[in-house]
Amino acid sequence: MPEKPYDHNQIELKWHARWQNATFYKAEENSSRPKFYVLEMLPYPSGTLHIGHIRNYAIGDALARYKWMRGFNVLHPMGWDAFGLPAENAAIANQRHPREWTLHNIAAMKKTHRRFGFSYDWDREVSTCEPEYYRWNQWFFLKMLERGMAYRKEALVNWCPKCGTVLANEQVVNGCCWRHEDTPVEQRALEQWFLRITNYADELLRDIEKLEGGWPERVLTMQRNWIGRSEGTEVDFRVEGTGEPIRVFTTRVDTIFGATCVILAPEHPLVAQLTDRDGQARAKAMVDARAAKDPGDIVKEGFFTGHYAVNPYSGEKAPVWVGNFVLMTYGTGAIMAVPAHDERDFEFCTKYDIPIRPVIRPPEGELARRGEMQVAFTEDGIVEESGEWSGLASAEARSRMTAKAEADGFGKGAVTFRIKDWGISRQRYWGTPIPVIHCGSCGVVPVPESDLPVVLPLNVAITGRGRSPLEEVPEFVNVNCPQCGGKARRETDTMDTFVDSSWYFYRYCDPRNDRLPFDPVKIAYWFEIDQYIGGVEHAILHLIYSRFFTKMMRDIGLVKNAEPAKRLFTQGMVIAEGVKMSKSKGNVVGADSLADRFGADTARLFVLFAGPPEKEVDWRFEGAEGIYRFLGRVYRFATRNMDRARAGTDGGEPSSNRKILRKLHQTIRKVTEDFESRWHFNTSIAGIMELVNDLYAEEARLSGATIAEVLEKVTLLLGPFAPYLAQEIREELGGEGAVFRRPWPSYDPELAKEDLAEIPVQVNGKLRSRIFVPFGMPEEVLETRALEDGKIRAFLGGKQVVKVIVVADKLVNIVVRG
Ligand SMILES: [Zn+2]
Ligand SMILES: [Zn+2]
Repeated sequence: MPEKPYDHNQIELKWHARWQNATFYKAEENSSRPKFYVLEMLPYPSGTLHIGHIRNYAIGDALARYKWMRGFNVLHPMGWDAFGLPAENAAIANQRHPREWTLHNIAAMKKTHRRFGFSYDWDREVSTCEPEYYRWNQWFFLKMLERGMAYRKEALVNWCPKCGTVLANEQVVNGCCWRHEDTPVEQRALEQWFLRITNYADELLRDIEKLEGGWPERVLTMQRNWIGRSEGTEVDFRVEGTGEPIRVFTTRVDTIFGATCVILAPEHPLVAQLTDRDGQARAKAMVDARAAKDPGDIVKEGFFTGHYAVNPYSGEKAPVWVGNFVLMTYGTGAIMAVPAHDERDFEFCTKYDIPIRPVIRPPEGELARRGEMQVAFTEDGIVEESGEWSGLASAEARSRMTAKAEADGFGKGAVTFRIKDWGISRQRYWGTPIPVIHCGSCGVVPVPESDLPVVLPLNVAITGRGRSPLEEVPEFVNVNCPQCGGKARRETDTMDTFVDSSWYFYRYCDPRNDRLPFDPVKIAYWFEIDQYIGGVEHAILHLIYSRFFTKMMRDIGLVKNAEPAKRLFTQGMVIAEGVKMSKSKGNVVGADSLADRFGADTARLFVLFAGPPEKEVDWRFEGAEGIYRFLGRVYRFATRNMDRARAGTDGGEPSSNRKILRKLHQTIRKVTEDFESRWHFNTSIAGIMELVNDLYAEEARLSGATIAEVLEKVTLLLGPFAPYLAQEIREELGGEGAVFRRPWPSYDPELAKEDLAEIPVQVNGKLRSRIFVPFGMPEEVLETRALEDGKIRAFLGGKQVVKVIVVADKLVNIVVRG
């Protein structure tokens, strides 16, 4: 048969069409096989997929196909994180309904997914903007409300006075509205809904240990810092004159004799009592200026209230300040400033000429002199100039001083977390309606479970004005109270979309259940997720919220597992021609154009070959062309040797056959080991390339049987990476069924061993046997091996050996007499 050119479109579109209704990607229910749940993070339906997405999916797809070939019952689903702000922005900009925009994008992206042939079980597809999905967000909310896990409190939001609307953090640009660049964003207090994630703060922190080894260390460190547990002491300073307590939290009560002022957060309730209108206006300006800014970017500012507060340990008066860097959401919203022993306090007090008073000395050193410190001394040491506590080591002083506060009733030991309760209220349209009703007589009334879902109305004007678009929909807002039947008002806030993505992977296990979010029996079979794959940008938020949801679901009896995923893999980024991809630079490498130009197989193989999957890779067109040529070489070799392979005849050069089979088995071993360890598919693919090079070099000297074996196994090895080409070659070879439902090839360790020298053994110059030994063996070893050879021993049978001549790697000649 003549060789055929590699026409990626012809091959890929043929299989694409044949696989449209294939059932071999469907996970089995009630399977006796071991299960494997591999999951890539679900995408936001922005409309297009680019090469970065392809990398995420290609890694998951290779693993899913490999696990199928290893005999697992694989669950590999896909869905859409379909609620969110961009749909609403698109609606404002183009007058398109968010739902229409979203569904259109989902259809386009799904088409690309299918064009790439990713092995998803599409029967399990989940889209979070559909009522049959988000009703379960509402159901979870009601369960949490029942248990006191969901509650309301006043909290600040970003507000644009020109739009008259609440802005998401992403809509605040340099402290101004995204649509009104000259309008500074204000902070307004609104009643909002929160989930008590802090109830699980300790467990979320403790269970990080269980994830060690399975999750990247970097992600675990970020989570530890985000949860941010600190042990310390709460202490009341009392305002001079009124006796009003100001409770501060400190991790360093041993330094309290060095406290030279007390600083309140600008939104602290005491600011109103301790300052005049002018001071209150300054405090409000500080809060507004902080809108959507990273606390690290804030220039420290403050002002003196004119009041003093008494230090309960020393009896000294400390001035009370208001400072923009003190957070109401951390500790108690007030701190004592100890400039000598805290860098942040040092900076603030230096700026405002507040005294710096050292009270801790290094264990082997002197106490710094007042007024001479250049930097704060922040380590533990020996307490000095602190009354009865002087001379104690820091740790000892902390525990005794905390005990004193407890005994005298002016404070206590306390643990504080950086993580805060999760504010889920959004004053936006395109999200899950929060299922409560506000009644003038009954207060907050949950929507009865039987009335779920609270369906998001579609007939809504999205103008970007007003508190929330839903407030303008009377048929949504005006309801009768489920308790008293009187006129009442439906909640118009929707949920943070991170709620949607906190549990979607459970729904895949039972996507059409209309009685429960899922059947716990199915979850018991599929969970935990064996391998979760996604970007490191989700190290906090999504990956903490999902852990929280799992624990909450366990506590309401739905799941038995305490963690959602055994293993997490975070793939590296893809940049393009050395530059980060971005819309504004116009260098985004789109998946559809890649499929047209090079084919899906080449694009997948490129991202897997360009580097280890955890590292950044650089998309280069020459690189893609190289991969394309490689796939062409495989295909041309296969097609022109198809007749030889089918005939399967013996013959060829024995050494060539052996060389190729050895390389084949070495390659199988290599690829198998890469799948089972660090997924260094780049070296797997390099191994397959070397094998193909050797095939070209030995082509004329191979038997039909060798070619048949190599081609069959190469298609199996390529199956997880380049499924279209692998399937095409399999069909040409006369093989039935899907490549990735074939068993993964095993390797023969004997065949995979490094090459052996074939040494003829002569007796008196005549060939009597052959021995196989590694190249470069010493002459004595060759001599011994030759004399021990079975055939030679039989031949010698009692004759006297006169001499043995050894030519290394070449020949043994035994000279005998008799
Ligand atoms: Zn605005
Ligand atoms: Zn009522």
